[in-house]
Formats: sequence, C-alpha cells, structure tokens
Amino acid sequence: MNEAASTRDTVIEMRHVSTRFGDHVVHTDISLEVRRAEVFALIGGSGSGKSTLLREMILLQRPDAGSVRVLGVDLADLDRDAAQSLRERWGVLFQHGGLFGSLTVLENVGLPLREHTGLDDALIDDIARWKIEMTGLAPEVGAQYPSELSGGMLKRASLARALALDPELLFLDEPTAGLDPISAGGFDQLVPKLRDLFGLTIVMVTHDLDLLWQVADRVAVLGEGVVQGVGTMAELSRMKNPSIRPYFEGARGRAAQQPAPVAPEATSEESPSKPR
Ligand code: ADP
Ligand code: MG
Repeated sequence: MNEAASTRDTVIEMRHVSTRFGDHVVHTDISLEVRRAEVFALIGGSGSGKSTLLREMILLQRPDAGSVRVLGVDLADLDRDAAQSLRERWGVLFQHGGLFGSLTVLENVGLPLREHTGLDDALIDDIARWKIEMTGLAPEVGAQYPSELSGGMLKRASLARALALDPELLFLDEPTAGLDPISAGGFDQLVPKLRDLFGLTIVMVTHDLDLLWQVADRVAVLGEGVVQGVGTMAELSRMKNPSIRPYFEGARGRAAQQPAPVAPEATSEESPSKPR
C-alpha cells in the first residue's frame, strides 16, 4: 500500500508507545492501528492502561516514548492551534459523562457549537435537537437537567454532546459500565447506527462482552504493558494466549458468543414520561 492510501485508511497509529507514572510502568511497547470506519475495542484487566492509552490518543496524556498519529497528524509536536483544530475532529464520551449540571440537555449539547462555530442560536438548537434524537432520547429530554436523567439517558445525552461538532472519530470509555442490562443493551444497536450514520471511526474501552461480540470489528487485548493480541472476537477466541483466554471461558464468555437477541427499540425502556 502506498503512503497516501495507508494514511487514508489508518486513522490512528501508535508505534512503540511506552508510558510510566513514576516507577509504575503501564505500557512497555504498544503498537496498534485503528482503521477508518471500524469499531475498535480495547480490553484488558483493570489497571492495564486502557484509559491511559485512550487519553494518549486525544492529547490528554503524553507517552514517554513512541509515536501517536491521529487523522494523519503526529501528536508529538503540535502547536496550540493545530491541537485545537484536531480536538474539534473527535468526540469523547468519558466514563463519568461530564455534563454541566446547571445547563439543560439541549444547552449542554449545543455548548460545543456555541464555543466553536458562529452559528446562530436557532440553528444550534436545531442541530442539538437532532443529535439528541440520534442517540435515542425523546425530544422532551432536551429540556431536562442532568440530575433528572437515569444513567442510560445521561450516557446518551453525553454522547449527543460528543457528536455535536460532527466528529470523524468517537472515543468511548466504558460506555455501558454501571448501566442496567436493558439500558446497556440499547448501546448494541446505537453504536453501529451512529457509526454508519455519521461515517464515524469508533474507539471504545469496554468490559461488556455483548458489546464486544456484537459491535466491535476488531479488539486489542492489553496486558503486561503490550498488546497481547488483536483481531476479531472470533479470531481472539481461537488464540491460546493465557491473557486472552479468560474472555472466552466461563458462562458469561460463552453466553456472549450467542447471536444477538432481538432487542426492543433503543429508547422504549427509558421514556422520560415515566415517573421516576
Ligand atoms: P485501565 O483503564 O486499564 O483500568 P488506566 O489506564 O486508568 O487503567 O491506568 C493504568 C495504571 O496507571 C493504573 O495503575 C493507574 O493507577 C495508573 N495511572 C493512570 N493515570 C495515572 C496518573 N495520572 N498518575 C499516576 N498513575 C496513573
Ligand atoms: Mg479505565
């Protein structure tokens, strides 16, 4: 493949990344590639450095060695303007949502548009309403405050905000952690829908076996500071590596390999009209 083609198809490229916090070595030699329009998942034990790796992809953390290229740009030597324009090309859903409690959902989702575009208020509200709807929330949720929402609704509202600026890349850190199975189940449909609708490339950290089997195109397993294996879930399931086996053994691991059940429409279980 010539260089231009590989840059087009490779959205994130990490080469020989190492990371330490003081004496604590988290990554010794991580190399991986994320391709355009795929859902790429990062898995690994707690503390294996998944969130840190994600933070290194979005300019929140610098590796101690190695290189990180995102959307064709080397993150090592960016000036402030270049960093800012790159940040506008990705959206991030952090584990703890991070919506402003004093703003309604509609205002929260519109905030990046107010900060980064010169669009007028009516248009910003229209775009925000559309993004809210795309994440499977009822339109009325726009008028609610974060404290009035369930965990699943909060995740969706945060996702709507992450999508506000039409990013090319979306990062999800444990999008279903802490959700009940029904709310978490909706994400199985939502993630591929958003990918297809917006032509997104998605990087997600997750322990959710259903999400991994049903949504991830490729999965990288982190352990001992390196990538222990990378491939589809089916490919990983055939690997003998002892750091990978636990994901496929036991009742949970086997149950997740079954075909997806027919799930209800993403929003039905979280209707805001239900009294809480
Ligand atoms: P994971 O997301 O896989 O659970 P993290 O990437 O959050 O793991 O963390 C990996 C390791 O690095 C953990 O041992 C964590 O305590 C440590 N770590 C992460 N961020 C920092 C930091 N800012 N300062 C010191 N140690 C950190
Ligand atoms: Mg983490």
